[in-house]
Amino acid sequence: MARSSRRSHHRKRGGGGNSPAWKKSKLVALILVGVIIAALVNMLMQLMGPDKNRSMLPDDFPHTFITPSDAGTDESKIIIERSSRQPKTPFKAENGEWAWPAYYCLNEACPGRGKDGKPYIFPAIDPMAQQIAEGKKPEEFSPDMAPPLMELQCPMCQQAYVRVTDNALKERYVPMNIDKYQTEEGRQMFEELKKRIQEQPH
Ligand SMILES: [Zn+2]
Repeated sequence: MARSSRRSHHRKRGGGGNSPAWKKSKLVALILVGVIIAALVNMLMQLMGPDKNRSMLPDDFPHTFITPSDAGTDESKIIIERSSRQPKTPFKAENGEWAWPAYYCLNEACPGRGKDGKPYIFPAIDPMAQQIAEGKKPEEFSPDMAPPLMELQCPMCQQAYVRVTDNALKERYVPMNIDKYQTEEGRQMFEELKKRIQEQPH
C-alpha cells in the first residue's frame, strides 16, 4: 500500500511543471510564437508599404475595353482608355452598353475567328459588378447570373466545346485558352517595362 502510494507520488513529481523537459518545450513554444509574429508583421509591412499603390505602367498606357454587342473580330470597336492604372469597369460606352476589359481567344479552331484569321475579341463581363453598377441591391440580384469572372471563357469555343462529344476534337475548343487583349502599342510598353524590371539591380 505504502509502496504504491509512493510510486504515484513519484510519477506526479516527474510530470510536474518545473522539470527541465517542460521548461525546454515552453522555450520552444515561445520561440515559435515569436517567429510567427515576426512573419505576420513582415507581411503587414509589405501590404501597407508605400509602393503598394504605385503603378509601374506609363501614364498613357492603352487599356482596352469592349461592349457585348461589339464582340467579334473588328479591332476598331475596341475602346481605349489611357492611364497608368486599370480604369474601373464597367463604364457606359458611347453605344449605351457597359464596357468591359477586352479579352481574345487563342484557339486556332475558334468558331469566332474571322475568315482572315483574326481572333475573336470579347468582353470580360463580371455579372456581380454589372448588377451593382445597375444600382441593384444584393436581394435583387438575378439568380440566373452568368458564371463569375474567374471562370471567364471564350463564348464561341464554349458553345463548340459543349456540342462536340469527341474528346480529341474537344482539345481544339478549350474555352479558357484566352488572354487579355492588348494593342500593339500596349504590348511594346509591356515588353519595355519587363526589360526595365529585369535590368534593375536586386
Ligand atoms: Zn474561341
